[in-house]
Amino acid sequence: MIEKFREWYDDRLAYAKKWKEDTGGKVVGYLCTYVPEEIFYAANILPVRILGDHKPQSVTEPHLFAMYCPFCRDVLAQGLKGHYDFLDGIVIAQSCLHIRQSFYSWQKHRPRDFHYVLPMPQGVQNPESVPYLAEEYVKFKKSVETWIGHELSKEDLVRGIEVVNRSRRLLKDVYELRKADHPPVTGLEAMSMVVSSQVIDKNEHNAILDQFLRNGVKNRLQERDPKSRLMIIGSEDDDMQFLDMVEERGSTIVCDDHCTGSRYFWDEVELGDDPILSLAKRYVERTPCPSKDWPERRRFDRILKFAKEYRVDGAIIVQQKFCDPHEIDKVALLDMLEQNNIPTLCLEFDVTVPLGPMRIRVDAFLETLSGDELF
Ligand code: SF4
Repeated sequence: MIEKFREWYDDRLAYAKKWKEDTGGKVVGYLCTYVPEEIFYAANILPVRILGDHKPQSVTEPHLFAMYCPFCRDVLAQGLKGHYDFLDGIVIAQSCLHIRQSFYSWQKHRPRDFHYVLPMPQGVQNPESVPYLAEEYVKFKKSVETWIGHELSKEDLVRGIEVVNRSRRLLKDVYELRKADHPPVTGLEAMSMVVSSQVIDKNEHNAILDQFLRNGVKNRLQERDPKSRLMIIGSEDDDMQFLDMVEERGSTIVCDDHCTGSRYFWDEVELGDDPILSLAKRYVERTPCPSKDWPERRRFDRILKFAKEYRVDGAIIVQQKFCDPHEIDKVALLDMLEQNNIPTLCLEFDVTVPLGPMRIRVDAFLETLSGDELF
């Protein structure tokens, strides 16, 4: 059953097209995890996170500066190459300039029926952010309602919030299992679960994940030696080949802090009387992307807590080349990890990752963690 999550991730475009055919519903692509998927679930629209395909391409050069990150380049390439022409709409919530430019180029050259730029505040630590975002969500909801031709009731919103919250709870259960001495789920498998939840109808995803968790999963992989326990920290990272290589060389990735991992799903919406306000609170107070983690860096306490709870032996910082928010964060992050005696390897990612050279660096890092002598 666990293979299903990887299959979903690999066949995500075919899945979305079939979903559309079967249901006659609309599919919306979104470019940042600050987009409130709950509103789309309330409207019975399938939200699909747009990810790259990690293949070389030559179509984005005229649209993006050379020093924009590979992820935003890979994402835009998907649009320009027509891979997502089945989408009915695209949406972005303000996060960084790089991905915003991908959105605007996509909108200009591959227009859809519905486009929306959601002005998600950068200063989330400002007390005005929650009421401000709630007002923006009212406008956003209205725009979705105009598009689909009917209003969304409070019940619709509650239903949308509940399905996404349920997904969050199930994924947290998976992460809980990874604290074990012999984690019954590898880092690669866990990432397949998280990333597939970003692209598959969560009603379906929740049902399979629930079934998986109930099927004696704790007894899986008991014979597998987890070797070094690692945490991955950084920018967007859905490079499965890389993760596979890291674990295959003698480690288990037990936790993470990035937006294709725990940062995406960790915080639930605490539902109050006003679902829109509850949603706004969740997105303002969620585990932040470094682009919003200022003036006080609040994310580091969580990273340290994870490192302790999951008993990590070391961390790999995976950074998309030229990613400004993470680059600015990295110096302080390295200091914090060093002060807490957490050995760290820093790697820079491009659209494609050179596995050979990366393997040498990963081997050397794992060797320092294991204390084994090379000669
Ligand atoms: S990896 Fe960094 S620069 Fe690229 S889209 Fe994400 S936050 Fe922006």
